[in-house]
Amino acid sequence: MIKIEGLHKSFGELHVLKGIDKQIDKGEVVAVIGPSGSGKSTFLRCINKLEEPTKGSILVEGRDIMEKTTNINNLRERVGMVFQHFNLFPHKSVLENLTLAPMKVKKQGKDEIEKKAMSLLKRVGLSDKAGAYPNQLSGGQKQRIAIARALAMDPHVILFDEPTSALDPEMVREVLDVMRDLADEGMTMVIVTHEMGFAKNVASRVMFMDEGVVVEDGHPIEVFESAKNERTKEFLDKVL
Ligand code: ADP
Ligand code: MG
Repeated sequence: MIKIEGLHKSFGELHVLKGIDKQIDKGEVVAVIGPSGSGKSTFLRCINKLEEPTKGSILVEGRDIMEKTTNINNLRERVGMVFQHFNLFPHKSVLENLTLAPMKVKKQGKDEIEKKAMSLLKRVGLSDKAGAYPNQLSGGQKQRIAIARALAMDPHVILFDEPTSALDPEMVREVLDVMRDLADEGMTMVIVTHEMGFAKNVASRVMFMDEGVVVEDGHPIEVFESAKNERTKEFLDKVL
């Protein structure tokens, strides 16, 4: 699904990603953990070209995203993204938030797109919020809408950047439950998260990032119970 080779990213003098080589297969649920500032968000953002890599190559479904001929809209259709701060359109209703992008890029009619949006709202337990505006929703509801919005494009993989970090504790569960359902349905997901329980129980694979490299990569049980790398152990000792 995703093949990353020799990925480097610098912001001016700041060398953030220092050589990442990774492959992510269809159906994998990858939790990316690691200290703040280690480059986790930058890594995710490179995969859907929200950041331009400085060096290296990224193939998504076999197609090089750096190729000038790669259509960015088509890439973003295939690679969905869910952000920490939801990024819903504040002046659009929930239904409009879900239908806006599909209306632009899908070759379906309005009725069909709205019908699909309603079924996605049902799936995230928010059928009654179609006409609401983002500021009328709780954080947990906003994030569930953001996930439904990502799904409205029929993505082949979804990237999540700390989807529960901005939520009050009592709302974390409802969002993780939706994500767990997606994982169970076989969706390919890459999730930057501080939810170690989720990483351990739902992810099929855990990557630990530190200072711009992935220093540990394995099955959750392997990483959580017998990490090989000292920095991974230190980090886990602090957060578990
Ligand atoms: P993480 O998500 O692991 O906390 P980030 O990928 O957000 O880490 O950031 C890694 C480093 O890159 C940090 O030092 C951050 O300040 C820097 N950085 C991230 N985005 C930018 C940017 N657009 N311009 C300059 N520096 C950035
Ligand atoms: Mg981040």
